[in-house]
Amino acid sequence: MLACSAGAARVYEVRGPDFNYWRAQIKCQAGCPVHTDARGYVRAIAAGQDELAYLIARGPNPLASICGRVCGAVCETQCRRGDLDQAIAIRALKRFVCDRFGPEARTDGGRTLVEFIKTAARRHLPRQCQDQEELLPLLQALTAGSIPQVKGKSVGVIGSGPAGLAAAHDLALLGLAVTIYEMESIVGGMLAVGIPHYRLPRDLIRAEVEAILALGVTAVTECCVGRDVSLSELRQRHDAVVIAVGAKRSRRPAYPGADAEGVYGGVEFLREVALGTSPRLGRRVIVVGGGDAAMDAARTALRVPSPQDDTGGEPGEQHLAMDAARTASRLGGREIHVVYRRSRAEMPAVETEIEEAHEEGIQFQLLANPVRIEKNERGEVRGMWCEKMQLGQPDASGRREPVPIEGSEYFTACDNVVLAIGQTFDLTFIDPRRDGLGLTKDGRIDCDAKTGITSAPDVFVAGDLAYGPKLLIHAVASGKAVVRAIYRHMTGRAIRAADLELHFPVPDYTREAAYEKRRRVEPSTVSVAERLREQNRPVEQGFAPEQARAEAARCLDCGVNTIFDGERCILCGGCVDVCPQTCLRIVTPDQLEGSAELQATVDRRLDRFPRDQASAIIKDETVCIRCGLCAERCPVGAITMERFLFEEQPVCQAV
Ligand SMILES: Cc1cc2nc3c(=O)[nH]c(=O)nc-3n(C[C@H](O)[C@H](O)[C@H](O)COP(=O)(O)OP(=O)(O)OC[C@H]3O[C@@H](n4cnc5c(N)ncnc54)[C@H](O)[C@@H]3O)c2cc1C
Ligand code: SF4
Ligand code: SF4
Repeated sequence: MLACSAGAARVYEVRGPDFNYWRAQIKCQAGCPVHTDARGYVRAIAAGQDELAYLIARGPNPLASICGRVCGAVCETQCRRGDLDQAIAIRALKRFVCDRFGPEARTDGGRTLVEFIKTAARRHLPRQCQDQEELLPLLQALTAGSIPQVKGKSVGVIGSGPAGLAAAHDLALLGLAVTIYEMESIVGGMLAVGIPHYRLPRDLIRAEVEAILALGVTAVTECCVGRDVSLSELRQRHDAVVIAVGAKRSRRPAYPGADAEGVYGGVEFLREVALGTSPRLGRRVIVVGGGDAAMDAARTALRVPSPQDDTGGEPGEQHLAMDAARTASRLGGREIHVVYRRSRAEMPAVETEIEEAHEEGIQFQLLANPVRIEKNERGEVRGMWCEKMQLGQPDASGRREPVPIEGSEYFTACDNVVLAIGQTFDLTFIDPRRDGLGLTKDGRIDCDAKTGITSAPDVFVAGDLAYGPKLLIHAVASGKAVVRAIYRHMTGRAIRAADLELHFPVPDYTREAAYEKRRRVEPSTVSVAERLREQNRPVEQGFAPEQARAEAARCLDCGVNTIFDGERCILCGGCVDVCPQTCLRIVTPDQLEGSAELQATVDRRLDRFPRDQASAIIKDETVCIRCGLCAERCPVGAITMERFLFEEQPVCQAV
C-alpha cells in the first residue's frame, strides 16, 4: 500500500509506510510526551473495559489522575478526529477511569496502588501499543532481573512538582533511596500552589502523591535549598541530585507603577490563595495576560472573599464555604478585567478556561497593552493606563504581532493588578563557579533538555527548569528521562527499548453505528452560582458511564489500517467509489512523486511491466476514518483491515 498526501494537480507526493509511519498514525499516542496509549484506553472504555483502560492510562504516567483533571492534553490537540470535526475528549475519558480505579478511589489513599496494578494486570490480555515508558514492562524486567536494581545508592530531588514526583517514582522502582526536598509546606509544586482548587481538588493530589511515597520515597517539606540546606551538602549526602525547582517567580514588566501597593505577580497571588493567606482584593481587579495562569488568576480573584465578606471566622473556613448572602454580594461585588494585547484568537489559554471565565462574568479588554499603573498618594494602585493595539505581521511565534495605535491611551480605575505575563526561575541557591554549573541567558541551568544532564556529573535538571515553562505532562516526561540518565551514570548501563512490530488482520472488523457523525460529548460543569457559592467547588464534572461510552465510540481507532494487496487487485475501482471520505485514488506510476527509495520500489514492482499500462492505488491518510467500507466492497479480498501493534520492552545494555 502506498500512503500519500495530495499535492499539485495530477502529481501526488507519496511515501511508503514503515514502522515509524504506522506509529505516527496513532497521533494521540505519538503526541503525548510520555507516549500514553490514549487510543488503547479510549477503545477500552468504548468496550466497557474500564479497569483495563485505567491500567493503560496509568501505564507511563504516575500522575494519571491529576492529568485526568488538568492535563494540557497534547493528545487532544493532535487527535486525528480533530482534523475532521472535533477531537476526542481524551482527558475527560482519562478522568472517567481514574475516578473509578485511581488512588483517589481507593480507601487506603493510594498506598497499595502499585500492588493493585500488578494484580489487575493479570486479569487482562497482554497490552497493545506498549511503550517502553510503561510501568508493567519495567516491573517485569526488574522482577526478571533483566534490568538490575541499583542498591545502596541514594538520590536527592529538589522540588516536589510533577517533574520531581515522576523522577522519585521511577527512581524508587529502580531500587534507589529517594528524598524529596520541598520548600513549601505541601507537596505537588504548581499542582498544589498554582492550579486552583476548583480545577484540581487537593485530596486527589494527596492520594496520587501518597501512591508515590508508598514506594519508599521520603518527602521533607518546608526545606528550602539555599536556606535550610545547601546544594553542596545535598551532593555530599546523595550519589546524585535532581534539581526540579520549576519557574516559581512571575515575570515583572518594565512599565512605571509596577511596584505599587496592590500589584501582585500571578504565580505569587495563586500561591497565597492556595496556602490560605490570600491578599486582600478590592472591588475591581485587572489581570494582565492571556495564558492559563492569567485565566486561573482572574477566576481565582473572583472567588477570593471581599473585605466586606470577612465575618471573622477562621481563614480556612472562609475559603471553604461561602453562604448564599456572600455569594450574592460577590456575584455583583467584584469586577475582574483581563487585559491582553492580542485578540481572542491568539490567546494561549485553553479554550474552555476562556469560556468558563466569560460565563463567570469576567470582562476581557482585548487588543490592549498596559503602559503604566497609576498610584494614589499612599502608593496604592489607583488604575491602569493601556493603549489600544492592532495586529500586524506574524512574529517569531507565528502569531500576528500587536502594534500600538497612536493616541489611543485610556484609563481603567482599579484596586489591584495581577501580572500573569510569564514565569522566571529562582536559582539564588546556585553558585555557578562553586557548583560547576553553567547558566543560560534566560536564567536556567545549562543542561541537555532531553536527558537533564549538566556539566556536573552528579547533578541533573528536570521539568520547567530544564526547558522553560510548558505543561505538567512535559514535566512528568522530563522527570522520567532524568531517571534513565541517572541509571546510566550510576551503572554504566542504559535502559533502552527492544521493538516488536506486529500486524494482524481483523476479519470481523466493525464500527459503532454512525460513529463518524456523532458530536463530541463535553463534560458538564456546575452552574456559575454554585461555583461562586463554594470557592473550591470543582467546576468540571466527570462523565456518566453512558456519556463516556458515547464519546469513546467516536474514536477512529487509528491503530487499524487499510492494507492493499496489489497482486489481488483487479482495478475495479469499487473501493474508490465506496469511500465516504474520497481518500482513495487510482493513478499511473508517473503521477507518483517521492523519495529515491520509493521510486526504486515502484521500478522493482513494475519490473518489465509496461509503465503506461500500470496503476497504483494511493490513499490520503489524513482523512481516512477507518470505516472499513473499502475492505467490505472489494470483490477479490485485496483490502484487509489490519491492526498495527508494537511493544517496546525495556532492556538494559552496557554503554
Ligand atoms: C497557574 C498555573 C496553572 C497551570 N495550569 C496547568 C494546567 O492546567 N495543565 C498543565 O498541563 N500545566 C499547567 N501548568 C504548568 C505546570 O503546572 C508546570 O509545567 C509544572 O508544574 C512544572 O513542573 P515542575 O516539576 O518542573 O515545577 P513546579 O511544579 O513548579 O515544582 C517545583 C517545586 O520546587 C519547589 N522549589 C523551588 N525552589 C526550591 C528550593 N530552593 N528548595 C526546595 N524546593 C524548591 C517549589 O516549591 C515547587 O514545589 C500551570 C502552571 C501555572 C503556573
Ligand atoms: S481518533 Fe482515537 S486513535 Fe485516533 S488520534 Fe484520536 S483518540 Fe487517538
Ligand atoms: S477505511 Fe473507509 S475512509 Fe478509509 S479508505 Fe477505506 S473506505 Fe475510505
